[in-house]
Amino acid sequence: MLLLNPGPVTLSERVRRSLLQTDLCHRESEFFDLQDEARDRLLNIYALDPAAWTAVLMTGSGTAALESMIAAMVPANGKLLIVQNGVYGERIAQIAAQYQIAHALVKHDWMEAPDLARIDAALAEDPAITHVAVIHHETTTGRLNDLSAIDRLCQARGVRLLVDTVSSFGAEAIDFSGNIDAVCSTANKCLHGVPGAAFVIARRAALTHAATRTYYLDLVRLAKLQDQRNTPFTPSVHAYYALVEALREHQEEGGWKGRHQRYAALAEQARAGLAALGIEALWPAEQSSVVLRAYRLPNGVTYEQLHDGLKARGFVIYAGQGGLSSQLFRISTMGAITAADIDRLIEGFKALVQR
Ligand SMILES: *Cc1c(COP(=O)(O)O)cnc(C)c1O
Repeated sequence: MLLLNPGPVTLSERVRRSLLQTDLCHRESEFFDLQDEARDRLLNIYALDPAAWTAVLMTGSGTAALESMIAAMVPANGKLLIVQNGVYGERIAQIAAQYQIAHALVKHDWMEAPDLARIDAALAEDPAITHVAVIHHETTTGRLNDLSAIDRLCQARGVRLLVDTVSSFGAEAIDFSGNIDAVCSTANKCLHGVPGAAFVIARRAALTHAATRTYYLDLVRLAKLQDQRNTPFTPSVHAYYALVEALREHQEEGGWKGRHQRYAALAEQARAGLAALGIEALWPAEQSSVVLRAYRLPNGVTYEQLHDGLKARGFVIYAGQGGLSSQLFRISTMGAITAADIDRLIEGFKALVQR
């Protein structure tokens, strides 16, 4: 089965085999070598200086890393402005509410791009705001939000930026030279590892005034212990094996730029093949990530018919979320997917649409 859902991804044989390595005690030096390699390699993807930045690993899915980041990086007396244009932006607001973090919202319809003028007005209006949180790639619709433009607003207003890069880290450009204080992601999206290992990349200077609101996901403690080649709890050792192997493969395949080019080619191949069948992409390429594209359901075919017909041919596609499920479907090209796979996918669509 080939997974075209936005994570977990189809594994390469090399990453799958890495799961079969020797059993490790997480209190032995072999485990800390693995942890160190994963942390170094994560910083290397965007050439981040380990003196200024730290990669903090944790056991859980992408949401664990998001929760850890939000709970820590807004200081006790801080206030968060959350930019919402999809399911994942709404999740940040739920986390802020859960931890009783002071916050304000700039809400958009799920089909809209973040409105820079509204974000700037919200910052101008409320000087208590210290941080902005935004999703980089809003996986709800496949839209790549304009991170650089939002970062420039943050720089002009003197506030810090926290970014959910769960479905973009390792495949899209991320400029860490502005006001980003932290980003969060997971092993099993663009990095091609298995579910169970997630991480936050944080600016060390910002961690010094971070808050401690959660026990298990406490970013400050995780960072401190990992710097000492230690760990507070039992990590998902096998997921770390797979993450390290996936990071080696990622580097050998040209780092984030290599992965970006590979995804862009597969996404364009899928778009062109579906367009020839009258199936329209939701956004033009320049508003989309290369990671995932949303398409309008063709007339006369339900999502269930498409999904089940393609699954019988060995492909798992993904529904639209919430109210979009009757209008859209999504195809991610993350994971060990080839051009030949996309050709077979388009053949499958042809058989289902042209009945
Ligand atoms: C997948 C995803 C998440 C986290 O999902 P998990 O199921 O917890 O791994 C968070 N944000 C975005 C943008 C995502 O695409």
